[in-house]
Amino acid sequence: MSEVTKLGSQAKFKTPSKPSDFPGIAMASLPAQKFERTVALTVVIMPFLGFLAAIILFWGYALGPVELGLLIGMYAATIIGIGVGFHRHFSHRAFKTNRVVRVILAVLGSMAAQGPVLFWAAIHRRHHAYSDQSGDPHSPHLHGKGISGLLRGLWHAHTGWLFVHEVTDWTHYIPDLLRDTLLFKVNRLYFAWVFLGLLIPTVLGGILTGTWVGTLQGFLWGGLVRTFLVHHTTWSVNSITHVCGTHPFHSRDQSRNNFLIALLAFGEGWHNNHHAFPGSARHGLEWWQIDWNGCVIRILERIGLAWDVKVPTVRMLVESRRSR
Ligand SMILES: [Zn+2]
Ligand SMILES: [Zn+2]
Repeated sequence: MSEVTKLGSQAKFKTPSKPSDFPGIAMASLPAQKFERTVALTVVIMPFLGFLAAIILFWGYALGPVELGLLIGMYAATIIGIGVGFHRHFSHRAFKTNRVVRVILAVLGSMAAQGPVLFWAAIHRRHHAYSDQSGDPHSPHLHGKGISGLLRGLWHAHTGWLFVHEVTDWTHYIPDLLRDTLLFKVNRLYFAWVFLGLLIPTVLGGILTGTWVGTLQGFLWGGLVRTFLVHHTTWSVNSITHVCGTHPFHSRDQSRNNFLIALLAFGEGWHNNHHAFPGSARHGLEWWQIDWNGCVIRILERIGLAWDVKVPTVRMLVESRRSR
């Protein structure tokens, strides 16, 4: 626990006034800005258009078992890739596993089209380093007072931060991940994994229905609609669970436990639990706190594919509650 708790509490940095003053944060050059903004815009707009197209084209048709199966199956696979892989394993080192599982988790997470694994982990570690203070890449609390400030903050935390031209220094935040040459290769093939995430449901839709309409349905529901839903679920962890919900544990930020987001994000919505114990492989810390990603890690542990699984002790839970 102690090793990874550090990743969530790098609060030793001062709170400077502009991004260039922050350790590990710089401003992007103009060409880099342009390229990144174009990619971000495409990644935000395309799944949204796919979602609209699916609704308009198939309005009035009941979703068949194939489309529904592809939507749910791809949703589960990619949200596990993000939650178990990108978040709990790569960003927080909450458990150890072998190289094959690492690659599988990195590929599944990449198929969610939220950026390559190294980008995701660096941004996320920075979020924990500065959470809800200047320097946090996606806090909803730094955008003015009152309702309008909160709404601006929620937009920034949810999607707007993708278009900000700050660059997170990987050597500062993820030196451990940069040393993994295999992970670096997976990271470089990011766009191929995004494409694979669209190809799999498209091909399965065609094979399982034997029709071109089924192929299109697979692409839309298992590909674009699924990406749209996974995006907004993950981004809700950045926005909603820093505003709405309960705060049972001590943490120096505005993180909240939110039942609905936890349900949709397979456990990531127990966000106050997570900020209090960032190194924990389990985010659901009560028996009733559903945490599917935690269950996946438990299954991996049972079959010998995960070890050194970190969880807070009862004493840590009691002390954190007391000092709240
Ligand atoms: Zn957070
Ligand atoms: Zn985290």
